[in-house]
Amino acid sequence: MGNAECPECAGILSLAPNTEAGEIMSCPDCGARLEVRSVNPPQLAAAPKVEEDWGE
Ligand SMILES: [Zn+2]
Repeated sequence: MGNAECPECAGILSLAPNTEAGEIMSCPDCGARLEVRSVNPPQLAAAPKVEEDWGE
C-alpha cells in the first residue's frame, strides 16, 4: 500500500494493504489518533477525539 506521514509528529506509518479511507489508526510513535483521509496517495489527518475505547 504505502506509507503516510503522521500530522502530529511527522513519523512515518505504514498502511496495511487492506486500509480503507475513513479508518482510524493510532500513531505508534506519538499515540495520536489518526483518520485515513485517503489511501492513494496515503494521507492521514488527526481524528476528532471521541469517547470510545479502542482497546490498545
Ligand atoms: Zn505521530
